[in-house]
Amino acid sequence: MAELSWHTRRAALTQMAAGPLDVLVIGGGITGAGIALDAAARGYRVGLVERGDFASGTSSRSTKLVHGGIRYLPQLDVPLVREALIERGRLLRNAPHLVRPLPFVLPLYASSRHPVGLPVAPPFGIGLGAILDLGLTVYDTLAGRHNVGRHRRIGREHTLERAPFLVPDGLKTGFLYYDAQTDDTRLTLAVLRTAAAHGALLANYCDVRGFVQKDGRVAGVTARETLPRDGGGGAAADELAIRARHVVNATGVWAEDLERLAGETPALRVAPSKGTHLVLSKALLDLDECAVVLPETSDGRIIFIVPWRSRALVGTTDTAAETPDGAVATDDEIDYLLGHLNRYVRRPVSRADIIATYSGYRPLLRLGSGRAPSRLSRTHAIVEGHDGLLTIAGGKLTTYRSMAQAVVDRIDAREGRRAAHPTQRLPLAGASGLAEARATLRARGAALHLAPNVLEHLARAYGAEALDVLLLVEETPVLAERLAPDLPYIAAEVVRVCRAELALTLEDVLARRTHLAIEDASRGLAAAEGVARLMAEELGWSETQRARQIAAYTDYAFAQAGPLAENVRAALAVAAR
Ligand code: FAD
Repeated sequence: MAELSWHTRRAALTQMAAGPLDVLVIGGGITGAGIALDAAARGYRVGLVERGDFASGTSSRSTKLVHGGIRYLPQLDVPLVREALIERGRLLRNAPHLVRPLPFVLPLYASSRHPVGLPVAPPFGIGLGAILDLGLTVYDTLAGRHNVGRHRRIGREHTLERAPFLVPDGLKTGFLYYDAQTDDTRLTLAVLRTAAAHGALLANYCDVRGFVQKDGRVAGVTARETLPRDGGGGAAADELAIRARHVVNATGVWAEDLERLAGETPALRVAPSKGTHLVLSKALLDLDECAVVLPETSDGRIIFIVPWRSRALVGTTDTAAETPDGAVATDDEIDYLLGHLNRYVRRPVSRADIIATYSGYRPLLRLGSGRAPSRLSRTHAIVEGHDGLLTIAGGKLTTYRSMAQAVVDRIDAREGRRAAHPTQRLPLAGASGLAEARATLRARGAALHLAPNVLEHLARAYGAEALDVLLLVEETPVLAERLAPDLPYIAAEVVRVCRAELALTLEDVLARRTHLAIEDASRGLAAAEGVARLMAEELGWSETQRARQIAAYTDYAFAQAGPLAENVRAALAVAAR
């Protein structure tokens, strides 16, 4: 197991402060992670700093689809859809444990006038089926040899077989098409682990507070550790200076702030757009391994119902926001999603059925004024300030690799190097030897009496590196214990992520290394004591530090629950019985 721990982080910070880097990346979401990997794979000496935890910004709050985006076709965003479909194909090959094909059912109702955001509305909806068929043919064709599977019209009966929870009245026909899905947070972590394996120095909880200038050019940053040195709430750590020949601002919705901090008038205008999801039980919707597109909302959008891990995700909203603060679902957003869901499902879903919600901000680019967020392009832009600061924003999770490649091409051009593209066929951490590892996992896991769903979860989350988790259970059998009775997470994972994924706080483990914060109805609070005990052993926390971590996580969990705090209290009462 390659170590990525509290100790390696300290060493990385010391090394970053000691000597000039070739490339310093600010921001540890998927974009920054991708740039760190691409630059390290091209042989640059790379550092990356993230002010919170990796993926704690937008990159843990997406719909988790790796897709071209069928709804961008009516907007004629063909280059973006094509790029995303090619990247989808590459990700399926480079990270098969984390990215997998997913079938989608698209129902067509008699009442539909603008399904999938079609701008035209044929009279009485006549010919809509043919238009959707044509659109999906274009989608398949754009994917070319990277396609996952060809779409087909499946008719009314087959649509209801695939999605039995849909209201049958008025259902005319349906389509089956293919995209892919991932675990956005774990994908970011896998990219970071791969970058570290190529020599990149990584530090979470390190906030860039200023820029170091030399001869009018950005020559580095000043940063402050945001986690106390003792890891548990003691004195804040020192400020440090990190020098680098190329500094990349990959801070997503905060990109403009960083440009301003460097003294530049922002060249990129980021328009944050808030998106909220509901998390429901799959059983409630009778959802199988097939996603469903609710084809039309009152504001001309679509809503996905996606089976994801143990749960069903329903989303998303898309509303303009002034600032990217308070990524928590509001009453209005919950009502909007429930309202549209209940138009299409047989059994009404209520607030009490909601396991969790989560929200995030899309870093959309303000390219045209006055457009609704859902009409703003998902494309990205790279700008270079007068001071040499490279800023990238926009794009999608799906296109992170090609965005990163474009940034490092700029750096190669500055260096007078011929651009090479090593990440096109670079397996991410856990991808190599996956088939053999799965077989070994099954055999050794059965000997340890681990349930099939636990083994499947380990294979999907860690790929071939799941064998490291198994080894921990073989050494200490009590680590086979589940963290929550109805979810496949086990105690050994807590040990592993402290040693190999830079988990430093209770929230890191419950919200991002695992997803108890959204899959568990108590938002992971029922597991918090036990996880904190394991982390205390790994990270050397005192009793006081452990108590502080639990208190901080409790605040986080209730803040995230927002208007549904009562659901969390009810789940805690059930767990205590
Ligand atoms: P972020 O993940 O936000 O990373 C930026 C990081 O910079 C943050 O972690 C932040 O803490 C850090 N930072 C900020 N300031 C500083 C500083 N001063 N010092 C150090 N670090 C700093 N895309 C898809 O392809 N498929 C989808 O299904 C999909 N669904 C989506 C649904 C929603 C609701 C949303 C909001 C987005 C969705 N997206 C999807 C888009 C995708 O999630 C984003 O494009 C992507 O995650 C952006 O990543 P990023 O790294 O640019 O930004």
